[in-house]
Amino acid sequence: MNNYPDLYLYIHGEWRKTAHDLPVLNPATEEEIGRLPCAEISDLDDALESAARGFEVWRRVAPRERASVILKAAALLRERQDEIATAITAEHGKPLDQARLEVIRGCEFLEWDAGEATRTYGRVIPSAPGIRYIVHHQPIGIVAGFSPWNFPMSQPCRKIAGAIAAGCSIILKAAEETPAGALHIARAFHDAGLPPGVLNLVFGKPAEISDHLIKQDQVRLVAFTGSTEVGKHLTTLAAQSMTPVLMELGGHAPVIVCEDTNVEAAAMTGAIRKMRNAGQVCTSPTRFFVHESIFEEYTETFVRRAAETIVGNGVNAGVEMGPLANNRRIEALTDLVEDARAQGAEIKTGGSGMDGKGYFFQPTVLTNVPDTARVMQEEPFGPLAIINPVSSLAEAIEKANSVPFGLAAYGFSNRADYVDRMVDGIEAGNVSINTLEASLPETPFGGVKSSGNGREGGTEGLHNYMITKNISHSMSIV
Ligand code: NAD
Repeated sequence: MNNYPDLYLYIHGEWRKTAHDLPVLNPATEEEIGRLPCAEISDLDDALESAARGFEVWRRVAPRERASVILKAAALLRERQDEIATAITAEHGKPLDQARLEVIRGCEFLEWDAGEATRTYGRVIPSAPGIRYIVHHQPIGIVAGFSPWNFPMSQPCRKIAGAIAAGCSIILKAAEETPAGALHIARAFHDAGLPPGVLNLVFGKPAEISDHLIKQDQVRLVAFTGSTEVGKHLTTLAAQSMTPVLMELGGHAPVIVCEDTNVEAAAMTGAIRKMRNAGQVCTSPTRFFVHESIFEEYTETFVRRAAETIVGNGVNAGVEMGPLANNRRIEALTDLVEDARAQGAEIKTGGSGMDGKGYFFQPTVLTNVPDTARVMQEEPFGPLAIINPVSSLAEAIEKANSVPFGLAAYGFSNRADYVDRMVDGIEAGNVSINTLEASLPETPFGGVKSSGNGREGGTEGLHNYMITKNISHSMSIV
């Protein structure tokens, strides 16, 4: 594949190949497009030593200078947008225009946190004469970061931006399925003059890497985005040394559609956003609870638009939805659909994988899905929407909250009292009204319940990567 980069580990400012490697596949064609070096334990130990040295240098660099290096890297990534987007589409399958937008979103994460680096203010606490109480924030230390495959560029950017802006060093294990985004970020930071050791990039066996890194005393924060199951496992490992964790985990986003809304517009945006990134988004709208008085009209419009989604290889013009990341996702979705159908759900469109090469799954809409179906509790992480009627807002909010997750939630209404009840009543870290956008650089993003803890972005984001230190300074010995 043209433009797909040669893949390396990046340790102490140097590019490294290893004895073992893994194939990287194009999920639209199942062809091999690259070979990914896998880290041995000795590579991880080198990365740890490098990160320790990098931290000693970087923690002493003025925030304004840190910001300048990050902004330079972001500018290089913007210049390289086409090259990076082509690589992302090859390894992930998403349409090229969505890959291009993802590159820009990744840059925006970097740019936002670069600015925040200069604003991690402390405070002076009012005190008696002769003594000062001063609170300030310091970088926490070495971060072990783990980023997933659904956004190969913007997900690693989130972790790298937070760590480096705060003055930490980071060892990032990016996703083995989609390594090119992270590799390009490392290349940009290298070219921007980031000192060796501040950013280290590794790939390999996820469990082996997390197990080895997290148990090291030098690692002071574990930052993970991925499934709730893996997040709980990493949190357990981190708890052995009371290492704090930043966990961005699964979601199962509800969408409450009230009877006063513009039905056509709400259904169209629902169907389009559901299929974005083939539904492989932790904030993807999935459980649509629609007032019974508009249920038929809403469902008809939604199903029509979902069925029209142009599915194909993301390099082809006009394609709206690419393949899933791998065959595991096809199997998982097929099982969920079969279970729902057996329990009485109606399959309005789609419901199965597609013939031919590539991990394609049909845009799928299920209606009248019983609460007992597995898909009502398990995150499908694919192009699958559930539309169920509800008779009141109270019922909709109760159903919205009836899962272990609480990441993103959405509501559609123009009535202030309805909006107020949704904003107050829905258990989620992010509630969006009349929009299906949930995560921006300038807004804090994260979950409640099994969706994780901590926040990325906003003014809150950098504080995960810092410790709060209180200084009590008496002017005389007391
Ligand atoms: P998975 O649980 O095997 O892997 C999810 C991610 O975690 C991958 O990037 C993987 O490399 C990493 N991982 C797995 N085990 C790990 C370990 N022991 N240590 C460190 N990292 C580890 O599942 P999958 O089939 O790849 O993905 C499916 C599920 O993952 C979905 O159902 C979804 O819930 C979740 N997921 C969530 C996000 C998100 O943005 N929150 C992103 C990708 C995947």
